[in-house]
Amino acid sequence: MDNKVIIFSAPSGAGKSTVVNHLLGLHPELEFSISATSRAPRGQEQHGVEYYFFTSDEFRQMIAEDKFVEYEEVYAGSFYGTLRSEVERIWAKGHTIIFDIDVQGGVNLKRIFGDQAFSVFIQAPSVEILRERLIGRGTDTMEAIEKRVAKAASEMEFAAGKFDYTLINDDLQTALAEAEKVVGGFLAE
Ligand code: 5GP
Repeated sequence: MDNKVIIFSAPSGAGKSTVVNHLLGLHPELEFSISATSRAPRGQEQHGVEYYFFTSDEFRQMIAEDKFVEYEEVYAGSFYGTLRSEVERIWAKGHTIIFDIDVQGGVNLKRIFGDQAFSVFIQAPSVEILRERLIGRGTDTMEAIEKRVAKAASEMEFAAGKFDYTLINDDLQTALAEAEKVVGGFLAE
């Protein structure tokens, strides 16, 4: 099947980026979908690498121009979205798109892409472990962490039954091996 997409969603801190980066390293035909966002860059993040960074006004303008496949206000005042041009850019190379996207966005993309898509929800072992991981990452304030943890709890509830596959990230090596197996199976279809 041509023009495939793989969707990874998870509460932040569940290890989603680690899994996605592992798969990108294994499969040269996979390409990461760079989302647009109105949040400020964190740390060493660069425009066109982790995200395409825009102001809120620019983002709203692009919404008005129907430039997005999907978009969402993931956190109050912070928009995130997938540009149509990004999907076209990756498919034009004959690559399979891999999305790292929030839970609502993942469900929306699965609805849009249907059988072309394989959607995976990564479940963190518990809300407490999630909080510890976010603190350990050291990139967010405590206030931001509490906001993410509260969101994570509701996302885990919302996600139940809405993804093609649920991966429990209790032990990272096990989760990576499981991700390899299910994604490899989908790519071989
Ligand atoms: P962060 O600010 O930590 O990079 O991302 C916050 C959340 O936004 C994460 O759950 C991330 O997966 C999600 N996200 C990133 N890109 C998109 C997108 O294009 N659309 C939607 N709906 N969510 C996204």
